[in-house]
This record gives sequence, structure tokens and C-alpha cells, in this order.
Amino acid sequence: MSVQVDMSTGADWRELAVCRSIGPEPFDTPDNMSSSALKAHYDRARVFCESCPVQYECLASALNEEEGVPRDERQGVRGGFGPRARYNQGPFLLERVVASR
Ligand code: SF4
Repeated sequence: MSVQVDMSTGADWRELAVCRSIGPEPFDTPDNMSSSALKAHYDRARVFCESCPVQYECLASALNEEEGVPRDERQGVRGGFGPRARYNQGPFLLERVVASR
């Protein structure tokens, strides 16, 4: 299922991304990290995402790019959600983002 995002303003949502000034490391999936450490790592990233003005657009973009991608090949936090949540819940996560705003 493809998710439609309104880009009618012509602006690139990435220009408004909170992570743009932070860098990618907090949002990546590090190698050789225990599951509890990885959860803490993702939780820290999610704090940034929850304050990000383009969380919806970011998540929609991730879901589009990952369509058909197996769970274990998805990486990092995008749009406030880790790989497992994006794989298991897909577009339903967009409703959660809208409801949280
Ligand atoms: S929602 Fe998170 S990962 Fe997406 S642009 Fe914003 S800060 Fe970056």
C-alpha cells in the first residue's frame, strides 16, 4: 500500500527535520547492541521524533520506501518508530501520529 503525502507547497519536508541538525547516529541501528540497549537507543531517538514537525511525512516516506522489505532488513528509527513497529503496524502508525498531534 502506497501512502500519499501532500507536497503541494513544493517544500522538501527534510528541510524541517529535527534530526537534520543532530545527525543520523541517534536514529541508526548500531551493530552488536543487546536488545535492551537497542530499545533504550531507540527510545532516545523517539524523543526527538515526537517533537519533529515532519514526523508524519518522515514516517510516510519510510513506509513507502520499505514496502515489501523484510523486517530484519529495516533499519533505525524513522518517523518515531523502530523497524519492528513499522513492519508490524505499517500505515496504522500514521493514524497514531495524527492522533498525537
Ligand atoms: S521524525 Fe524523527 S527521523 Fe523523521 S525527520 Fe523527524 S527527527 Fe528525523
